Amino acid sequence: MKNMTVQTKCVQGGYRPGNGEPRQLPIVQSTTFKYETGEAMGQLFDLEAEGYFYSRLANPTCDSVAAKICALEGGSAAMLTSSGMAANFFAAFNICGCGDHIVASSAIYGGTYNLFAVTFKRMGIDVTFVSPKCTDEELEAAFRPETKMVFGETLANPSLVVLDIERFAKAAHAHGVPLVIDNTFPTPVNCRPIEWGADIVTHSTTKYMDGHGSAVGGAIVDSGKFDWTKYADKYPGLCTPDDSYHGVTYTERFGIEGAYITKATVQLMRDLGATPAPISAFILNLGLESLHVRVARHCENALAIAKHLEENDMITWVSYPSLPSSPDYALAQKYLPNGTCGVVSFGVKGGREAAAKFMNNLKLIAIETHVADARSCCLHPATTTHRQMTDEELIAGGVSPDLVRLSVGLEGAEDLIRDIDQALAAL
Ligand SMILES: *Cc1c(COP(=O)(O)O)cnc(C)c1O
Repeated sequence: MKNMTVQTKCVQGGYRPGNGEPRQLPIVQSTTFKYETGEAMGQLFDLEAEGYFYSRLANPTCDSVAAKICALEGGSAAMLTSSGMAANFFAAFNICGCGDHIVASSAIYGGTYNLFAVTFKRMGIDVTFVSPKCTDEELEAAFRPETKMVFGETLANPSLVVLDIERFAKAAHAHGVPLVIDNTFPTPVNCRPIEWGADIVTHSTTKYMDGHGSAVGGAIVDSGKFDWTKYADKYPGLCTPDDSYHGVTYTERFGIEGAYITKATVQLMRDLGATPAPISAFILNLGLESLHVRVARHCENALAIAKHLEENDMITWVSYPSLPSSPDYALAQKYLPNGTCGVVSFGVKGGREAAAKFMNNLKLIAIETHVADARSCCLHPATTTHRQMTDEELIAGGVSPDLVRLSVGLEGAEDLIRDIDQALAAL
């Protein structure tokens, strides 16, 4: 699959049936696996043989789907998690602990912001937020001796700010730490962060990858390029024996290509248990089979609507990085030349109240805490997903209090435009 196009990897990646085996990915809905001898099973526990023993750690259906996402991102190893939040939590907690520090873009998903700013603080992990538009000096100043990683989103949810991945990768690598990128919004169809220097990629597969609003899920992909052993003192969890796993040293046993995901699986998944259900992985795989077709159509519809909104004087501003008027247009053309995503943000004249009324007037487009499925929906982050943030924090995160987030689905663009126009006219 390595040299195949993204399209072919979407359809056929991760699972190759043998002679007479099912054409469609089998759902192995089994918690456990049977062995002939205790010794054979013992070898699995010692990580000396490969195989399945308990679905909290690994399951064939989930592994096949992880392998597909791994191929799509161009990584060396990958795992599924039960949600996107679990993916971001594991991605960070795999290399950070009490006393450590993270540099993160301030323009990130509200849930991840809360994980970093509140929950990690309680765990003794400190996070410094920097604007994705900060100067090189400001970025440099955010690092500390105990910094263990840099985090950002390719295309921020919901502000749609485009991260200059190369610049953040360069800064991270100059400090001997990996860049972790949440690539949920563009999906690997539109951007593959590893090609721009990212070391680890995370996903909320709940969004475009599933694409039908059917299954919550997450994924972590390791590029296999970050050499943990060069900074062994910083990453003892990867480079020194793990007493909780029979003294295994992950980098020695699994190399720099396999150490990170193996540790996250056998240690974090074992202890924290954010396992996806095999049936959820199967549903995700159905979504992935058409990801390349759907993402292109989401982008086409969103661009048509963004252009239409720009021409309506009831709309104060439109943010969509594929619009030439966007301040991020040049960055989007560099990192996302084939399109960005189906989400468009805009402000309704009259602010907070007008935005709420506009949304109530919509008939086809539903009010939902969701983005990125086949059905169009919209949301007012300031009063819902981001309600724990102050106005100052909202603005720092690129989410103004009047922002309406519209997730453009796969309906006919003309119908969606008619719905928006009638909702604005009724204000
Ligand atoms: C939705 C989302 C998450 C969280 O994912 P869940 O699957 O809802 O847990 C993380 N990052 C981004 C960018 C998201 O859009």
